[in-house]
Amino acid sequence: TDVKELLLSRIRDVADYPQPGVMFKDITPLLADPAAFTALTDALAELAVRNGATKIVGLEARGFILGAPAAVRAGVGFIPVRKAGKLPGATLSQAYDLEYGSAEIEVHAEDLAAGDRVMVIDDVLATGGTAEASLQLIRRAGAEVAGVAVLMELSFLPGRQRLEAVLGGAPLEAL
Ligand code: IMP
Repeated sequence: TDVKELLLSRIRDVADYPQPGVMFKDITPLLADPAAFTALTDALAELAVRNGATKIVGLEARGFILGAPAAVRAGVGFIPVRKAGKLPGATLSQAYDLEYGSAEIEVHAEDLAAGDRVMVIDDVLATGGTAEASLQLIRRAGAEVAGVAVLMELSFLPGRQRLEAVLGGAPLEAL
């Protein structure tokens, strides 16, 4: 579609970043283009509304940039899921494995509750580890997963398979 072409045209490939052999997808050209950023925001908000989301969770850090305007547009609350140690209040934490080592993400426990339907938003789905951990946080808080929406999935990695195995029928949307 036209929107897909516009979004793709504003994503920059950066070779050997952050490590040799990695082709990094840089979304800063998209953020700097108001037509593209607006089209992305509208598309993400539409996905949240269509899937009955009552909250949007954004994954640090680019999920904040994309998720916050989508939440405003959709008329739902925005909840940041942060790397461990950044949130001041009482948190739920979830550890997950990286290629080398592990990582931990957190959410304010009081931000999610039974009755919430949550759409998770991030820029890039790679292995799916970060998004999977966020689903565990959402469910541990008693809330329901409305789906996961990303700008882009790296389809040469098994992130979609991994997430679909834990989504329980909720959609994984990659714009
Ligand atoms: P995963 O947990 O392996 O799916 O990695 C996804 C996380 O890493 C997301 O929060 C992304 O923002 C980040 N990420 C991985 N690859 C890229 C990339 O090429 N560009 C931008 N972010 C990336």
